[in-house]
Amino acid sequence: MADGTETESRKLLGRLREEMASEAAGQERLDRITSLIADSIRAEVCSVYLFRDEDTLELCATEGLSPEAVHKTRMRMGEGLVGRVALSGKVMNTADAPSAKGFRYMPETGEERFSSFLGVPIQRLGEKLGVLVVQSREARELSADEVYALEVVAMVLAEMAELGAFVGEGAALSPLHQQSVQLNGGPAQEGSAEGHVWLHEPRVVVTNPIAEDPHRELERLTEAVEELRVGVDKMLEISRGADKEQLQVLEAYRMFANSKGWMRRMEEDIDRGLSAEAAVEKEQSQARARMGQVTDPYLRERLADLDDLSNRLLRILTGQGKTDGADLPPDPILIARNIGPGDLLEYGRSLRGIVLEEGSVGSHATIVARALAIPLVVHVGRITTEALNGDHILVDGDQGVVHLRPEDTVVSAFRDKIAMQAKAQERYASIRETPTVTRDGERINLVMNAGLMADLPSLNNSGAEGVGLFRTELQFLIRNQMPKRSELVAQYQRVLDAAGDKRVVFRTLDIGSDKVLPYMKHVAEPNPALGWRAIRVGLDKRGVMRMQLQALLRAANGRPLTIMFPFVAQADEFREAKWEVNKTIEREKRLGHVLPETIEVGAMLETPSLAFAPQKFFDEVDFVSIGGNDLKQFFFAADRENELVRRRYDTLNVSFLTFIERIVERCNISGTPLSFCGEDAGRPVEALCLAAMGIRTLSMRPASIGPVKSLLLRADLQSLRKIIADARHRGEQSVRPAVMEWLRNQN
Ligand code: PEP
Ligand code: MG
Repeated sequence: MADGTETESRKLLGRLREEMASEAAGQERLDRITSLIADSIRAEVCSVYLFRDEDTLELCATEGLSPEAVHKTRMRMGEGLVGRVALSGKVMNTADAPSAKGFRYMPETGEERFSSFLGVPIQRLGEKLGVLVVQSREARELSADEVYALEVVAMVLAEMAELGAFVGEGAALSPLHQQSVQLNGGPAQEGSAEGHVWLHEPRVVVTNPIAEDPHRELERLTEAVEELRVGVDKMLEISRGADKEQLQVLEAYRMFANSKGWMRRMEEDIDRGLSAEAAVEKEQSQARARMGQVTDPYLRERLADLDDLSNRLLRILTGQGKTDGADLPPDPILIARNIGPGDLLEYGRSLRGIVLEEGSVGSHATIVARALAIPLVVHVGRITTEALNGDHILVDGDQGVVHLRPEDTVVSAFRDKIAMQAKAQERYASIRETPTVTRDGERINLVMNAGLMADLPSLNNSGAEGVGLFRTELQFLIRNQMPKRSELVAQYQRVLDAAGDKRVVFRTLDIGSDKVLPYMKHVAEPNPALGWRAIRVGLDKRGVMRMQLQALLRAANGRPLTIMFPFVAQADEFREAKWEVNKTIEREKRLGHVLPETIEVGAMLETPSLAFAPQKFFDEVDFVSIGGNDLKQFFFAADRENELVRRRYDTLNVSFLTFIERIVERCNISGTPLSFCGEDAGRPVEALCLAAMGIRTLSMRPASIGPVKSLLLRADLQSLRKIIADARHRGEQSVRPAVMEWLRNQN
């Protein structure tokens, strides 16, 4: 092989550019490119393998291997040296291929004669497209320069593939972004939606990966980077007073924008013949590939910053805007790598569904999507690279599945499902005003969980009899800075106005653990779920607690007020908090404010310890609400956020139900009202069993009220209690099988 000097690679890219401009298409173009590369670098073999499906690579063109093997030789991801390059996304350079780990002999290609092997992944912004292979008889490793030159070539091939340069016959040469694909992720908000892709950040398309005049390209890059730096400095200037987190992000931007290493690598790429935008994209692709491998959250954040910055730079260079000028399609389904709560609220209810490449079940965007009742699937790998604006898409938020450009059969099955859900919704709407009384005459109170202004319309259209849990921290979480007291007063007023006569239970700030306020000093804790959170923070930071209590009292302004403290683990915590309430009332009185008509102060039972508090506690507290999400996590010692364990223990496990029964008894002794406000209250079968255990108020997501009510109206709790008692008596671990069987026999 020839020395891969910069001029060599520029020459090679020059020939590639001519090839790009030629009339040839598909297979012919690919054939010409492989011989061109082999010829330019004087290697005996040059082959291009492309993916024919997610897991299978196919030899699509070769110079030097047997032509009969083209479109016949295939390997799976990870299989043979080529498959290993594809899997790792990393270059493999060996002088002795047959001895390399994973080598697979493929007689049809006649490759046994070749000793040296260089495999370079063909990938674009994290999307794996194939592998470029160069082989030669001479046993030697290629020089760093040669490898570099071929990496640049692989990048150009990826761009050409994206632009449809190799479209031809067969699955491996089929056009990109046109086949139907099913992508799996995690369900974050239930519901199904059909619509069209709307990319939150449309991809920048690089149409000129190879440049003729490196000097001009260097100038363009320097100018663009300068513009970027000025832009970042300006943002920093404007944000001087902003919160620390935001400043940190901008500082990180600035660091990258001034990073010598970043600049140098891009300049080198340009020297080798890439255009300025292709050089930026090459860096971006590498950052994305690294992102896939890094697990440290801090490093991931920084790589994401670099990705953002590259996008900005690409926009400056190509003049392509943040939106590509397209209008929101009908029934838009938002696709993004991640999205902040503010941006999501701006789209608001115009969206039919949301699919995020990253995101998480507990993220702020998820909180907003839930409030807006928009189906959401998170952790959908490849979605931002696969989807194109306007693509037909189906989102199944119940299963966490996304169908992109679906086949007709999938569409019709999906539409049947939506129609069934719509029918069920009609049924629920017809019982909206019906009070929830079971067949044996038990009256159950169904109320809803809320936390954002976007939740308020649900008060009327869900049939909720009130708000059993208003998570006040959500308003704090979606902002960049601590809200002022006057803002809180206005918000709480709006909530009470919307509720009218219905009772609203305001839970005081529940922060810490998974709910981290971006503007509060982050305390590193070994185990945040067991750490400084909720009422513990409130009691240690009285100023914030007082401000919130004041805001609540003022918002009530003569109306009844209900306050609930989260995460009370022992009676004294509740007493101290109650003392703060009383002090705040006195102060408000002194200041001449109108006091609420009545004030109830309750506690959330989220740790097993509180269930065993002295009976006096149950006498003192105005009401108790079981926070089942946390209670279950501590009861079973299973992290609610940890996918490996969070579904391991059943709510209908006899131990847990017996525990719930014990709490019911303790509240009954004192005549203390008891409710349940964890996610389980919104699951019909679980809700039924909780009611059977004696819980009379269930607080859930608004969308769950219909299904839960529908089941309760048909249920006879007396006989269900017997089923549960019998299952317990038989020594079963969970009463679920018995309950399900009983339910089946009911119909
Ligand atoms: C709970 O823990 O069950 C609860 C309702 O509170 P959160 O989910 O907000 O922690
Ligand atoms: Mg909780």
